[in-house]
Amino acid sequence: MARKFFVGGNWKCNGTAEEVKKIVNTLNEAQVPSQDVVEVVVSPPYVFLPLVKSTLRSDFFVAAQNCWVKKGGAYTGEVSAEMLVNLDIPWVILGHSERRAILNESNEFVGDKVAYALAQGLKVIACVGETLEEREAGSTMDVVAAQTKAIADRVSNWSNVVIAYEPVWAIGTGKVASPAQAQEVHDELRKWLAKNVSADVAATTRIIYGGSVNGGNCKELGGQADVDGFLVGGASLKPEFIDIIKAAEVKKSA
Ligand code: PEP
Repeated sequence: MARKFFVGGNWKCNGTAEEVKKIVNTLNEAQVPSQDVVEVVVSPPYVFLPLVKSTLRSDFFVAAQNCWVKKGGAYTGEVSAEMLVNLDIPWVILGHSERRAILNESNEFVGDKVAYALAQGLKVIACVGETLEEREAGSTMDVVAAQTKAIADRVSNWSNVVIAYEPVWAIGTGKVASPAQAQEVHDELRKWLAKNVSADVAATTRIIYGGSVNGGNCKELGGQADVDGFLVGGASLKPEFIDIIKAAEVKKSA
């Protein structure tokens, strides 16, 4: 079964209401491949979710950038999975490296969040990836496998999970992984899923790449056999995000 190309835009903690309206207008006017070729999801900060959801074209979807690990309640400052469901927000990004590093989210905590969000009916973009030190120490696959295992230990149905392989050294640095580096980890990750989850999950789960993807490098990266799309940070705030969405065509003609 072909895996549908997936392009996510992570807007992080950026934007004013005016800027958000401008980005939405640019997206709404864009000519992009149809929904059967590419799935597009944009992730504004929480406060702009209702604005984006109500103004964005209907063939693009929205994601939150995080949600709480269990049912809401006395957790000041948090937003629960139930609230996202209540607002009809279909997707959530979990385990982003900025949250792992800055907010000390452990593999287990991320795994718990993924399981809880899925159980509430959300679809999850689950992020994994190694630091530069870990790569240089030769432990890339150990790190990525441990992060994925913490999810696999808690999740049995993978149909609503997209894995984002995001090497930390490539995020926001302009230092994109080479197509060969990305393909190598995606291939290893798929083999890990085949061995530790199932052949079917390995064959059908989308593994997308994130880390300094832009309009110039997206086609070659997207052409790799096991790269099923992208999670885009900085460039998702710019018109070149449209070019990145169009990179889905490389798979169509492959
Ligand atoms: C991200 O934050 O998920 C990301 C990939 O950022 P950037 O594209 O800016 O490297």
